[in-house]
Amino acid sequence: MTATLEPGVSLSRCTTIGTGGPAAAYAEPATLDELQAVLRLADREGRPVVVVGLGSNVLAADEGVDAVVVRLRGELAAASTQGDLLVAGGGATNALCLHRARAAGLGGLEFACAIPGTAGGGTRMNAGAYGSDWSSILARALVCTADVADWLAPDALGLSYRHSELVPGQVVARVEYRLAPKPPERVKADVAELVARRKSTQPTTKRTFGSVWKNPPGDVGAGRMLELCGLKGHRVGGAVISPMHANFIENAGGATTADCLALMAEARHRAREQFGVELEHEVVLLGVIEIPDR
Ligand SMILES: Cc1cc2nc3c(=O)[nH]c(=O)nc-3n(C[C@H](O)[C@H](O)[C@H](O)COP(=O)(O)OP(=O)(O)OC[C@H]3O[C@@H](n4cnc5c(N)ncnc54)[C@H](O)[C@@H]3O)c2cc1C
Repeated sequence: MTATLEPGVSLSRCTTIGTGGPAAAYAEPATLDELQAVLRLADREGRPVVVVGLGSNVLAADEGVDAVVVRLRGELAAASTQGDLLVAGGGATNALCLHRARAAGLGGLEFACAIPGTAGGGTRMNAGAYGSDWSSILARALVCTADVADWLAPDALGLSYRHSELVPGQVVARVEYRLAPKPPERVKADVAELVARRKSTQPTTKRTFGSVWKNPPGDVGAGRMLELCGLKGHRVGGAVISPMHANFIENAGGATTADCLALMAEARHRAREQFGVELEHEVVLLGVIEIPDR
């Protein structure tokens, strides 16, 4: 099986925030064989591998990323049901999975209706909302490296709050979700309610990368904390802390990753000063990139 690597693809095309420079190499494997061929090629070239799903929780360096960036396509982005199981490629979008589940009369994935990512991204991040997360539905995941492909159970993935033990180079090629029978009309009604709730509290029509920070321990969430710091609407260049929800950064036009990082530096500084809290970022940083000291 051959693998083709394309040079210079801009990560601004692969991220929901719309920032980021070029990838050293880019590939879109559509089968397991193609994926492993890409991983072996990256190994031979001595380049790290970065998988991107919908790029909805990543911030990539403006200077670019010296890695083979991989996006799963074809059968690695498809989904179908088998009894109470939903089998999805790592690149299958949550919207597609939810559609397939509803059509088959299966419930359990509704919480993911407002998470604009993929099965692989959800597994890596243990994404969640409304009291559920990936750990509550994941039966097992097929994790690939250049040499092996192993089905791992949730325990082996080490899923906790917005965290898994997956490391760069381990690609979630497929997942199986264990769902439960539920009438399609009820799935539809519950999704409509969750989407309406989401639209009233978060900037769903803006370009963002989801939650910037994990919620710190305690009663005050990161968004509320930054709101109390007076940061809603705070702007650097083309990036602005969402006037609707302070745990989001919006691309208000022409934003760069450096603009986003400057806002993150300000937010972290203010939370430290005002609340004595060290915020931990949820967004994944790609490339040689860090939040500046402030
Ligand atoms: C408007 C908005 C709302 C959001 N709401 C929520 C929410 O309610 N809850 C929540 O948890 N998140 C939320 N997010 C964040 C984001 O959607 C989730 O983290 C999502 O699961 C990321 O999926 P992705 O496929 O886009 O991953 P990406 O953002 O592309 O990648 C995230 C990480 O996962 C890795 N990754 C991606 N695919 C794979 C794979 N196949 N194998 C191995 N690693 C992989 C990447 O390398 C990276 O480290 C929101 C984002 C936006 C923009």
